Amino acid sequence: MKKWKGLGLLFVVVLGIVAAGCISGGGTGGTATSKPIVQKNDQGKWEITIYTGSGPGSVYFAIGSMLAKVINKKSKDIAAKAVTSGASVANCKAVGKGEAQVAIAQNDVTWYAWEGKFQFEGKPIKVLRAIGTLYPEPVQIVVRADSDIKTLQDLAGKKVVVGAAGSGTAATAERVLKAAGVWDKVDKVYQTFEEAAQSLVLGQVDAEFTVIAYPAPAINQIAVKVPVRIISIPDDVIQKLHNQGYPFYVKVIIPKGTYNGMTEDAQTVAVKSTLIVHKDVPNEVVYEITKILYGNLDELAKAHQVAHQIDINHAFDGLMIPLHPGAIKYYEEHGITVPDKFKPKE
Ligand code: GLU
Repeated sequence: MKKWKGLGLLFVVVLGIVAAGCISGGGTGGTATSKPIVQKNDQGKWEITIYTGSGPGSVYFAIGSMLAKVINKKSKDIAAKAVTSGASVANCKAVGKGEAQVAIAQNDVTWYAWEGKFQFEGKPIKVLRAIGTLYPEPVQIVVRADSDIKTLQDLAGKKVVVGAAGSGTAATAERVLKAAGVWDKVDKVYQTFEEAAQSLVLGQVDAEFTVIAYPAPAINQIAVKVPVRIISIPDDVIQKLHNQGYPFYVKVIIPKGTYNGMTEDAQTVAVKSTLIVHKDVPNEVVYEITKILYGNLDELAKAHQVAHQIDINHAFDGLMIPLHPGAIKYYEEHGITVPDKFKPKE
């Protein structure tokens, strides 16, 4: 009996070392870290860092900060903090490395990360899991209302902010401008929403790409100073994106009047934001975050009205990566069937 007990203890110790080794590696696409993905603080709460977006212009920042606030208010077990970041591409990489446990990212970018495409070339991030998709983020190409730029073709030869380095905006802008055949002809500038707003108002750049929920604070910070227009993406470019194998670019309309100066509807494409987590965040932690997310949408909507579009019944629309088991448990308890393709293989 005694001997077995001793062996059992040894087994637990060995298992512990093996498990620690697994989670400290950060998985494919991650950099080795010596810490586990999540740790408890002095009060015994799991410490979660949520990577969001660039700052006041960002809806990710608004929603992510409010999510952290609500988690801190409602959860006995989790202490959350939201931080600014370079947005989607940077966020997928941060989760890959275990620097962030939770983040928001565009669904097209999560797929590029998973597949090791474009900004993730040769470095797929297979530790990404999802809690669900959240809300649509239309591509909104902003010019001053008095600009002579009327079409995507008119961007040729102009100074265009294509997003911040590390943003999903920059990744999507490249796809759209390549499909329109003008990527090589634009003078590309990489700036955050905040920097770009200033550049556009001062006339230092001619146009700005944003991929963000509307009404976008990033665009309102321009439109309060100068009237703006949104450039439409025509059907043939949308068709081309689909033919190229990017089904996640869904046609949407930004209604006129959304921003000061916008007198006509604009046709564009939208991706969907996704709440992502590292696969090694414990199931009970992800379950709790999922529960707090869906239980507090009115609170989240105080940060940005687009939270009213977050809907548990549409959580798999546009989903490009597997769900986390902690989220799956929540969906199944709420009578939502989770298709096999969204169940992680490991
Ligand atoms: N979708 C944007 C990006 O990843 C960020 C939008 C936001 O910050 O709300 O570049």
